[in-house]
Amino acid sequence: MRVLVALGGNAILQRGQKGNAAEQRENVQKTVTQIVRMIHAGHEVVVTHGNGPQVGAILIQNELGSSSVPAMPMDICGAESQGLIGYMFCQSMQNTLLADGIDGHAPACLITRVEVDPADPAFAHPTKPVGPFYTEEAAKKRIAETGETWIDDAGRGWRRVVPSPDPKTIVEADVINALLEKGFTVIASGGGGIPVIRKDDGTWEGVEAVIDKDLAGERLAASVKADLLMILTDVPQVAINYNTPQQKWLDKLTLTEMENLEKEGHFKAGSMGPKVKAALRFVRNGGQRAVIASLDEALEALEGTKGTQIVKG
Ligand code: ADP
Ligand code: MG
Repeated sequence: MRVLVALGGNAILQRGQKGNAAEQRENVQKTVTQIVRMIHAGHEVVVTHGNGPQVGAILIQNELGSSSVPAMPMDICGAESQGLIGYMFCQSMQNTLLADGIDGHAPACLITRVEVDPADPAFAHPTKPVGPFYTEEAAKKRIAETGETWIDDAGRGWRRVVPSPDPKTIVEADVINALLEKGFTVIASGGGGIPVIRKDDGTWEGVEAVIDKDLAGERLAASVKADLLMILTDVPQVAINYNTPQQKWLDKLTLTEMENLEKEGHFKAGSMGPKVKAALRFVRNGGQRAVIASLDEALEALEGTKGTQIVKG
């Protein structure tokens, strides 16, 4: 099977960790072990991943260093985060394949742009907090200087919010498919991809926004005609009535059953919501099956015995 694996934040950093290189390398190694299990079982894997903490750190470094070296815009910071995470995955995967004596499947990490619609309503309503926390005074100064949108983030301080538009197409789709044809294990569209818009003259331009990595993962899965979309995170399954006494984990559902639960509002925006949305889109667009599962049970989820499975019907 060709499997699109969308990795959550826990694949690179555990909750509560600082985020130093050693910690991230260690987590990536554990993640790679799960991916290589799938390769061992005979599957072709395409990987995408989140970048929240990493791009957050880059934005802070840019901010704090800006009196010495110029700060970079968000699209460039996104590209940097794809590079740093992709490098860790490539190194770890190549070493693991070598140790396991597996031929082929060499990793190829691709800086990936994802097209968004400049008319997407998200641009009028920035919602996604990014970067450092500011005091109210500093934030207001910044708003006056730049016209950026900043909000009081749940009493934790002021934070910049950027739009989170819907991904349309993976710009590098042809390159990714060419790499897959040659047998490489592709790591692409990290952090949801670098958001770009197509201008009237046909050229591309990066924008100050972020794309949800699960929704971009669905676009990537469709672009490579994956048989299975796997969204791996830090919970074993999707639940209804999550975190309440009525909580019930979900094993296997049809598209229609899951759509109905989604309408009932069980899946929180910003966490489980986009995962379910991506899974539903994948199956609705003709995909065989989508699964949302724990990273630790990746192969079992692939084989259909763990996680929440969403199938046609
Ligand atoms: P990731 O980095 O993998 O995208 P998120 O934090 O965005 O992780 O989403 C996973 C989290 O979603 C889980 O840790 C869980 O707390 C939360 N969550 C919200 N609603 C649900 C639900 N209905 N079922 C399961 N988990 C849920
Ligand atoms: Mg998430």
